[in-house]
Amino acid sequence: MARTSAPAAEKLTAYRRKRDFSRTSEPSGDAAGAAGAAAPRFVVQRHRARRLHYDVRFEIDGVLASWAVPKGPTLDPAARRAAFHVEDHPIEYIDFEGVIPSGEYGGGDVIVWDAGTWEPGEADPAAAVAAGELHAELHGEKLRGRFVLVRTRQDSGGKEQWLLLHKHDEFAVPGWDAEEHPRSVLSGRTNDEVLADPDRMWRSDLPAGEASIALKGVTGAEVERPSPDELAALDDLPAAGQWQIFGRELRVTNLDKVLFPGSTDHEPITKREFLRYSAQIAPVALPYLAGRALNMHRFPNGADSKGFWHKELPAHAAGWLPRWENPEADQGDSRTYLVVNEPAALVWAANFGALEWHAWTSLTDQPRQPTYALIDIDPGDSTSWQDVLVLARLHRTAFEHLRVRACPKVTGRRGIQIWVPISRGPRFSDTRRWVEQLSKTVGAVVPELLSWKWEVRERAGKARLDYTQNAINKTLVAPYSARPAPGAPVSMPISWDELDDPDLRPDGFAMRTVPQRIAEQGDLFRPLLNADQQLPVLG
Ligand code: MN
Repeated sequence: MARTSAPAAEKLTAYRRKRDFSRTSEPSGDAAGAAGAAAPRFVVQRHRARRLHYDVRFEIDGVLASWAVPKGPTLDPAARRAAFHVEDHPIEYIDFEGVIPSGEYGGGDVIVWDAGTWEPGEADPAAAVAAGELHAELHGEKLRGRFVLVRTRQDSGGKEQWLLLHKHDEFAVPGWDAEEHPRSVLSGRTNDEVLADPDRMWRSDLPAGEASIALKGVTGAEVERPSPDELAALDDLPAAGQWQIFGRELRVTNLDKVLFPGSTDHEPITKREFLRYSAQIAPVALPYLAGRALNMHRFPNGADSKGFWHKELPAHAAGWLPRWENPEADQGDSRTYLVVNEPAALVWAANFGALEWHAWTSLTDQPRQPTYALIDIDPGDSTSWQDVLVLARLHRTAFEHLRVRACPKVTGRRGIQIWVPISRGPRFSDTRRWVEQLSKTVGAVVPELLSWKWEVRERAGKARLDYTQNAINKTLVAPYSARPAPGAPVSMPISWDELDDPDLRPDGFAMRTVPQRIAEQGDLFRPLLNADQQLPVLG
């Protein structure tokens, strides 16, 4: 029984102000109040952002009234904890546990440290908060009994300092310290454990209903996967029809057309099969596509025809498709981009003939700030696969030495790329310079393999380490995207150890086998989602 209360909407204004919802017209926080008539809930999240603190949040009028408590709440009635009244949070945040990308508001890791229901001491708790004193009886797993929040100071900027105390009641425990009870009541894990293997990412730049993004790949329990019924419905369609997928109804066309031609090694692949793959892979690929403009490499007449770039979301595209208007687009440039913020949007792109998916290196809210530095080992005509591996292993050694987190993937063609997650801040000119310096240092070990010439014909068939892809609106193929070739090879994340696997091939992962591999290995690009890393100065 969702209701949208006007007070909730007003309360979320400050939350929204810190975030950019301009990319979609959907209201954020509109699920507020979904808890209905049950007892109101509370949550305490242990949040390691710039500073460790505990966020104490009470469900009031469909939003989470929130205080940041640096030392954490305590059951000790003799202790008074400083608390800072912070903006209301959307109700969807109440069970969030995972990571918030650095560079975003509150970047860091979050656990659900305690949760339960509460009874307000006042008839109108929102009015009590406004008046500066809130009484709450908590029924949590760790926190029990009667608490009081009292406002002590309000500075001229509107910042409110409060105190949080526990009353003398039967739940009082002298000397009780939150830091001695460090585990999540949701998962039993500590912040460190969640950071090392997060289930979810909170994208505070997205509307609240979409902001909690599952990271677990197809092996994870919470991922919104297409159901067997949804996939069977695609199989049952004639050559065209309406397909219900991920809660959307898509018109899909030319389903029996061969998109990937056959070869001696490969059966032909139809568009129907490609759409099935796009639906299966969408929940896995989503974290690398969400929040980013998508450049579509379209091959509507199949992988053996000439493809072309299509960036502008066509005017006839369905209204629900998430999109972004590039404010810097010049006359004649593409202006409206598809943003794959939900899995159905990727299926839409696939049906549109986008065989290859190229998401921007930056997020739409800061298009000039890359979130990755990219290394592109681009083989020349006379570069062998062994040469590519030599170059990739040299980069592996360099990253180990630098203690920089980086993830390799094969391109699905002939090369290898290495993606390096970074905190936002540096410009493309900074990442480009850094990658150039790194690659030239690495390349100096094997000068015979490399050319630094821009023109292909001047490279004498040698490989190039292409740092110039670190630029706005220049893209590398997204992880898990197919490539236009027989068998539909996939640009596949690999582990660093696989560089030593004699069976590794740059085009050895294909559409038909990728879902099985992911079920076994998980999503090897996940370390990219913990972007709390700065590029070290290269000496
Ligand atoms: Mn916080």
